[in-house]
Amino acid sequence: QEDKFKKVIAHAKEYGYIFGSSEIYDGLSAVYDYGQNGAELKKNIREYWWKSMVYMHQNIVGLDAAIFMHPTTWKASGHVDAFNDPLIDNKDSKKRYRADVLVEDFREKINQKIEKDITKAKKRFGDAFNEDEFRSTNPNVLRRQKEIDRITAELTRVQEENDLAGFKQLIEDLGIGCPESGSKNWTDVRQFNLMFGTKLGASAESATDLYLRPETAQGIFVNFLNVQKTGRMKIPFGIAQTGKAFRNEIVARQFIFRMREFEQMEMQFFVRPGEEMKWYEYWKETRLNWHLSLGLGRENYRFHDHDKLAHYANAAADIEFNFPFGFKELEGIHSRTDFDLKAHEEYSGKKLQFFDPELKESYVPYVVETSVGLDRMFLAVFSTALQDEELEDGSSRVVLKLPAVVAPIKAAILPLVKKDGLPEVAEKIVENLKWTFNVAYDEKDAIGRRYRRQDAAGTPICITVDHDTLNDETVTIRDRDTMEQKRVPISELKSIISEKVDP
Ligand code: ATP
Repeated sequence: QEDKFKKVIAHAKEYGYIFGSSEIYDGLSAVYDYGQNGAELKKNIREYWWKSMVYMHQNIVGLDAAIFMHPTTWKASGHVDAFNDPLIDNKDSKKRYRADVLVEDFREKINQKIEKDITKAKKRFGDAFNEDEFRSTNPNVLRRQKEIDRITAELTRVQEENDLAGFKQLIEDLGIGCPESGSKNWTDVRQFNLMFGTKLGASAESATDLYLRPETAQGIFVNFLNVQKTGRMKIPFGIAQTGKAFRNEIVARQFIFRMREFEQMEMQFFVRPGEEMKWYEYWKETRLNWHLSLGLGRENYRFHDHDKLAHYANAAADIEFNFPFGFKELEGIHSRTDFDLKAHEEYSGKKLQFFDPELKESYVPYVVETSVGLDRMFLAVFSTALQDEELEDGSSRVVLKLPAVVAPIKAAILPLVKKDGLPEVAEKIVENLKWTFNVAYDEKDAIGRRYRRQDAAGTPICITVDHDTLNDETVTIRDRDTMEQKRVPISELKSIISEKVDP
């Protein structure tokens, strides 16, 4: 798995998808740039989300709120007081630790041990082996599982009670993930706010302290009435938004899974109080179906229903995805009650209510939110698409089987040779297709190598112009996934590509 993850990162760089930020200066930790293909893939995923939310639902509209917001916003939302993580430094190694990351490391390590136990038992028992039974009866596995549960529960307690001494004890107990295990040379535990601060205004004295938004949702809440009134929206209705969010993650790692600057795609759905559970279930199902429509495989998704709820929620679930480092949160679906709108009413002194013509009364709506990280979506799509494939003739190829609807380049147009007028015909095809699709032209190297290059870059269709084209106006199209080739008239190319890339 670790190997696979390294391949994903290397491939993303080699094919112009993702670069480390300011690489020539040795990079900036947990900040990444999207290259020529990455920018396109990311844009296509964003569009795919936007269409499914805004165009497919008559009662959902879009919004593009500013990254800077009035500082009181973050008081009302609870981020100033509660968006903290306990943190500790080791003076010997100068390393910084965050409890949840340490616990995650610990879990991974113990789970690896369990996997080893299972592999061994499989060998020993052969066909008679039953993994579920082994997991629920083997004393070694049970002991390890119990230890995971104990540490996880302790972490939850420490976080809930804000117990800094307990946090320190937990780190010493774990001793895992920290090379200086046993070291006594720790700093005090401190609370660390995850919001980035900045200043608005010319002179130091008059400047206002601002935060870079840590989530896009608050831009939606503060505009709730603007949109409802000007759009004449009736409850239930939703507001959707995509945009950058910033969090000063203490331990940022796992490539674009946890970044300091990232992009969210959020939708807040405003409903009648008392009807939120119905909508919560609706959005859980609808959002999972959206993911499934990309064709990455049902087995790669699972729900994680939260027992422990954030202060603003009365129900919450994550859609988890099987990333190269295991199942992790991809999207959150939260029933946020009227917490946010009520808080903004209180802090702003303005009413944020809806007059319900059917009930003939005004109320502060309840909110069901869907929140997915665009960069995490990118990683899910990209890492699943990247495959090493053995071919029938014994050779192998690297292929990026991106869903065609989000692939950066929809088709590559390739003249078989660089003479006899073939490039001119190929360029004419490009001229014709480029109004509708992002297409590429490539005339360098032998045709087989060009096919492989497009396979690795994720291009779903190759179109080859050869000498027959000059006589009969047909070309060869080659499918990235099946590698099948067939002859088609140039005049049909548009509809063939459309069929492939339109969901
Ligand atoms: P995590 O527990 O992984 O830190 P979270 O529960 O804090 O995530 P939310 O606040 O619910 O995340 O944010 C909604 C979505 O935004 C997440 O499901 C995730 O896809 C994305 N997201 C959150 N933090 C980051 C980050 N640092 N980098 C990239 N994406 C992120």
